[in-house]
Amino acid sequence: MNSFNFDVITLFPKAFELLNNLGVITRALDKNLINVNLHDLREYGEGSYRQVDDKPYGGGAGMVLKPEPIYKAYESIGKSPKSKTLLMCPQGKVLKQKDFVNWSNLKQLIIICGQYEGFDERVRCLADEEISLGDYVLSGGEIPAMSIINGLTRLLPGTLGDPDSLIKESHNSQLLEYPQYTRPKVFRNMKVPDVLTNGNHKEIELWREEQMLKRTLERRKDLIKSEFYLPIDKYDEDD
Ligand code: SAH
Repeated sequence: MNSFNFDVITLFPKAFELLNNLGVITRALDKNLINVNLHDLREYGEGSYRQVDDKPYGGGAGMVLKPEPIYKAYESIGKSPKSKTLLMCPQGKVLKQKDFVNWSNLKQLIIICGQYEGFDERVRCLADEEISLGDYVLSGGEIPAMSIINGLTRLLPGTLGDPDSLIKESHNSQLLEYPQYTRPKVFRNMKVPDVLTNGNHKEIELWREEQMLKRTLERRKDLIKSEFYLPIDKYDEDD
């Protein structure tokens, strides 16, 4: 079977039921383009209470996930030769579209979700990469993990109805997507730009390229500055 395997270590496997109600992702599951294998951390817990967490050494607030259950869960997973392990962590590298593109060449992602105050430091060495969804703190790694499953799955061949929709979308290049309109032509006095309805494909393409650049400059100048058009000084009037 040529499917992409996501193996997720989590204390809340039920959270992932959401993936069964997410349109293209659900279709990818139905078509076996992806498998989401959930590894319930509780099953690897210790003692009759299946303990997975404990108080931090040195004191401090909250509970920390113990290393043994996570290691046991991790070691129970069959590894593909094209596999990477990701640790969900607000201290990690902030997730970018290019990560999805890179990982889509693999066959397996093992995703470790933290909870509570996080995990014992000795869990970090299991991970090839530590990934943060953004500069904020969530209560657990489940939503970041689902974001990764979602974002990567829509890149896999056979998932999207029209794969062309991936080409010009935001964050595929360093530019954001152009404005999109559908019928009706006039809605509450807001009119679709004439250029989109005149049937001149060359003009439409030019307009869209211009809009992508304009939009990115207005909203996310940092994307362009980072690695794209070098002569950015031209656009830097309000810096
Ligand atoms: N005390 C930790 C935060 C723990 S939040 C700290 O200050 O760094 C609990 C868990 O939620 C984390 O272990 C991680 O798995 C997940 N998590 C929270 N915010 C996240 C984010 N922005 N990106 C990825 N995972 C996150």
